[in-house]
Amino acid sequence: MIYDCLIVGAGPAGLAAALHLAWHGRKTLVLDRRSGPLFYTLSKLENVPGMPGQRGSEIMKNLRTQALEMGAEVSKTSVVKASGELGKFVLESDKGETFEGKTLLLATGVARFHPTVDGDYTQCLAYAGKCNLFYCPDCEAPETEGKDTLVIATGSSAGAIGTLKHLAEHASKLKLLMTSEDVLKDHHEAYLKENKIEMIRGEIAEFVGKKGCLEAVVLKEGQRLSHEAYFVSSPKIPRSDLAAQLGIPVRDSGHAEPKSQRGDTEIPGVWIAGDLRPMTQQVAVALGTGNIAAVHIDQFLISH
Ligand SMILES: Cc1cc2nc3c(=O)[nH]c(=O)nc-3n(C[C@H](O)[C@H](O)[C@H](O)COP(=O)(O)OP(=O)(O)OC[C@H]3O[C@@H](n4cnc5c(N)ncnc54)[C@H](O)[C@@H]3O)c2cc1C
Repeated sequence: MIYDCLIVGAGPAGLAAALHLAWHGRKTLVLDRRSGPLFYTLSKLENVPGMPGQRGSEIMKNLRTQALEMGAEVSKTSVVKASGELGKFVLESDKGETFEGKTLLLATGVARFHPTVDGDYTQCLAYAGKCNLFYCPDCEAPETEGKDTLVIATGSSAGAIGTLKHLAEHASKLKLLMTSEDVLKDHHEAYLKENKIEMIRGEIAEFVGKKGCLEAVVLKEGQRLSHEAYFVSSPKIPRSDLAAQLGIPVRDSGHAEPKSQRGDTEIPGVWIAGDLRPMTQQVAVALGTGNIAAVHIDQFLISH
């Protein structure tokens, strides 16, 4: 069986695309190794149009149900290899299964790096996106309105300063915890000084809190950092390995390069959508770019 479209990634981008394609009668298969960040972590999203204050898992359930009801297929599969060309793309799973599609949509998202305790990120998952530990300034900065906020930086100091500048519009007070060893540039030091933002360096020993709400971050040196809100500034690495295998240009940032705002690429028949594209990482953007890719895939299939 050859599908009209194979989609890798069942996040908001992949499922929005699957809904449109299946609704238009296209044989569509979505392959996902496990549900992405929304399903696992987010208890309440305030910025998704038409879905006020909804849980991440609820949004994912609704998107998946809608795509399935339209006739899309969704399979729990980890894709490790992508090859082929327009008319016959082949995806191969880690178990050696192969899937064929006339067109391909990559909606594989980004990998995020949580703060760790001795290299283990799972302690942090009890709080990530659940109550007062946030990750996405473009989505959640207003959550820090009037709050004494700790920024926990696990990556570059440039990223940390960017997050601080964003939150300075909202938070009443800011402190920076650098868990990475990245050295601050002079102008970053100057920004902290000018804005009276204290910086601490240290390794996290423990996250303390209850029912998803973080009460303090305890450092190995024993210092206890207790704030009203916490914001993680961490690297986000686009999952562009399949795009690269197909010959799609990949930016230094790791994002796959679209040929146009439609999400088409240098490789005819291959589209990209969602966080994999170089744009802000939001559910609404993922839904929109998934939808626009699907509209153009459908139109492409009509004319080819
Ligand atoms: C903690 C946190 C808080 C956030 N808060 C908000 C918020 O408040 N508001 C907001 O709008 N956005 C928020 N976001 C961002 C939002 O979750 C993302 O922008 C959105 O999920 C991106 O959708 P996507 O479909 O592009 O990718 P994802 O949702 O990441 O989905 C990609 C899927 O592809 C799968 N996949 C990847 N590679 C493969 C492969 N090789 N084989 C099979 N499957 C694969 C992954 O497992 C994943 O399920 C937050 C994100 C995080 C992590």
